[in-house]
Amino acid sequence: MCFILLSVTSSIAQSPTPNPIFLPINQSETPEEVEPTPSNDPVQPISTEVATETFENTRTVTQVFETPPNETESAIEKIEHHVLKRPIELSGDNIHWVDRTYPYGSTQWDTKEVHLGVEFVNPRYTPVLSAEAGEVVFAGGDAEVLIGPYEGYYGNVVVIAHEILSLDDKPIFTLYGHLERVEVEIGEQVDARQRIGRVGATGIALGPHLHFEVRVDDPFDYTLTRNPDLWIQHYVDHGLIAGQVHDAGGNPVMGHRLVVRSETINREVFTYGSERVNIDPVWQENFTVSDLPAGDYEIVMLDSGGRVAYRNVVNVEAYKTTFIDILLDE
Ligand SMILES: [Zn+2]
Repeated sequence: MCFILLSVTSSIAQSPTPNPIFLPINQSETPEEVEPTPSNDPVQPISTEVATETFENTRTVTQVFETPPNETESAIEKIEHHVLKRPIELSGDNIHWVDRTYPYGSTQWDTKEVHLGVEFVNPRYTPVLSAEAGEVVFAGGDAEVLIGPYEGYYGNVVVIAHEILSLDDKPIFTLYGHLERVEVEIGEQVDARQRIGRVGATGIALGPHLHFEVRVDDPFDYTLTRNPDLWIQHYVDHGLIAGQVHDAGGNPVMGHRLVVRSETINREVFTYGSERVNIDPVWQENFTVSDLPAGDYEIVMLDSGGRVAYRNVVNVEAYKTTFIDILLDE
């Protein structure tokens, strides 16, 4: 299978940017009743919805669309894979959305190690659920087993192998770190949303939270992570923005701030802060903005001198990824 990457660049002079939108197809939807508002934005989205979609397919969704006339290739193929359930139950006071302060690829302004997973910040003992059915390939403390950048990094950790393949046909694993308690054993088969442990602060955690990772190919290789935002199912009528900010030489611009806003959302995001971040080989993203109610969003990026370097309005469709390619022309 050949994946051809879209190269749509934009600067002030070129805007508005064409925004390819990658459509999910063949998903069988089984809405599920839940309660909370799916966001911790500074400006809370007004959302009365309270559900997530359950997609039964494990693999994928293909959308082929035409390339712009100036491209030599005739078609582009990108694939959505929002197939994993949220590892925190969608109910009560649970925080089942990814923490925005230390997202995937963040270094928190070079104050922390680059983050190759995401956090679900919840009180100790909050149940942790398997994101999909699979087989437990690790369960226990990592003090003597290298799973992260060094031994003892995750504390009590569970790793599950799923029958889901990456876009290049490699197996997908999910990892659940810093658990207070592990409630499964190695070799055990688990169902999707089965309780596998409890939120804790073991390993290097500073406070109770679930550290969640998506890995490909090797469950013990910390360098093979992917951004969970590209894998986690959408809330009802929500979608995702993903994109790449790069310079004129095509190099990704690291740690650059973007603002994504609508009437109800005001989200500050940063491009990945380190070359060590693993990007999706097909999407080639260096930022994502997840859990956005469908609608129009203005994206604004300033250059190092504080001038507007990029401004555009994109439409986010429910259950879809809107990909934007931004040339930062400094
Ligand atoms: Zn973490």
